[in-house]
Amino acid sequence: MSAISEILHALKTELPSNVTLVAVSKFHPAEAVMEAYDAGQRVFGESRPQELQAKAAALPKDIRWHFIGHLQTNKLKMVLPYVSLVESVDSEHLLAAIDGWAATHERIIDVLLEMHIAAEDTKQGFAREEILDVLHHAAEGKYRNVRILGLMGMATLTDDEAVIRSDFSKLIAMRDEIRSDKGLAGGLPENFGLLSFGMTHDYKIAVVMGADIVRIGTLIFGQRI
Ligand SMILES: *Cc1c(COP(=O)(O)O)cnc(C)c1O
Repeated sequence: MSAISEILHALKTELPSNVTLVAVSKFHPAEAVMEAYDAGQRVFGESRPQELQAKAAALPKDIRWHFIGHLQTNKLKMVLPYVSLVESVDSEHLLAAIDGWAATHERIIDVLLEMHIAAEDTKQGFAREEILDVLHHAAEGKYRNVRILGLMGMATLTDDEAVIRSDFSKLIAMRDEIRSDKGLAGGLPENFGLLSFGMTHDYKIAVVMGADIVRIGTLIFGQRI
């Protein structure tokens, strides 16, 4: 067995069966993706439009691609035809553009809203109030060609587990607040509430805290060059 398949088998044993593992293959070649595919992995994450488009064209069609990077509205056509989930919607402008593209192409695109939960300003994402605004607009019927399934976030890069836990708990609190918001009742997808959090550095904490999706790159594929 290759190193990639060994790690995937270990992860499969470790992760609860209801947790979706996104193998983050960004910056790694198609051959590495194929090694993971041959080990049974079907969900992969990419963060650059051009790279996603090239890999989607070259690799098996039953791969489910998640887009996890910053997406510019002029790059939608390189991403949306290929993805099963856009995890990183970080502005209402982007959401509206995705909705417009999807309407034109008679598609429904599944998305997560990325929430800013880390201490670093450099990380993308909505603030709490902005998420509520977007969801109220969605519940009013403004975006009929996207399905907002939940939230994604990235914790502060730190070894301090208390900080990581506190960051992740903001996502959980946001999800719970949304679910109990009477103004949104009936306006969101029935299965709203998917939470995507946890990466190589902090996925064990994420799993304990109830992540539905973890996005793991370095542990599976090694350091990105
Ligand atoms: C790169 C990336 C990951 C994977 O990070 P690793 O530390 O390599 O596991 C997860 N989520 C997002 C949004 C990323 O950009």
